Amino acid sequence: MEELVCYNEYKVFFLGKTFSLMREVLRLSKLEGILAYNDKFVRRKEYMPYQTGKYPGDKILVVTCMDTRLLELLPKAMNIQNGDAKVVKTAGALITSPYGSVMRSILVGVSLLAVEEVFVIGHHDCGMIGLESGMVLERIQQMGVNQEALDSVYDQGVEVEKWLCGCGEVEEGVMQSVRMIRNHPLFPSNIPVHGLVIDPNTGKLDEVVRGYE
Ligand SMILES: [Zn+2]
Repeated sequence: MEELVCYNEYKVFFLGKTFSLMREVLRLSKLEGILAYNDKFVRRKEYMPYQTGKYPGDKILVVTCMDTRLLELLPKAMNIQNGDAKVVKTAGALITSPYGSVMRSILVGVSLLAVEEVFVIGHHDCGMIGLESGMVLERIQQMGVNQEALDSVYDQGVEVEKWLCGCGEVEEGVMQSVRMIRNHPLFPSNIPVHGLVIDPNTGKLDEVVRGYE
């Protein structure tokens, strides 16, 4: 009996017939499903078409949102092929700290990974537009995080309301991130930083900040 695994289903060959069993029916966890798929993926060398170098072919770095709609649409809409760009994803494409991991990624990109231009790309209908900390905190508490845990965060001096806050308008958020990069004392002034907004349905890009100016 040979077994073929797809991400969402098992195809089982048995007694000359093909049986499809949904992952849910087999009660595989998401992790088990992914690992089972991955095992076949590697053994069949399906990675071959995706092999590329660590330096971005187009010498660009994109900071964008984690929105699911952008997963394939954004690179297609920008004509970015596999290996062309460094992509840093963070909710709303909002850089909240000059010394956080997003800014660090950008600095590593421009200093060691041949990045020559940076694109900050927010999108319409983003979950971070109008997000208030209360919405997140209330839901998190419903999920079982208690007040004591929340208090411990305040006790560390974290400005939770500010940290968990989104942006008013998408353009405003993009400009804020562009300013954060441009004004960073360690960011080279000759690297253009552009700001754009993408439509998550059509892929249309609108310019907010032209980094060459
Ligand atoms: Zn978003």
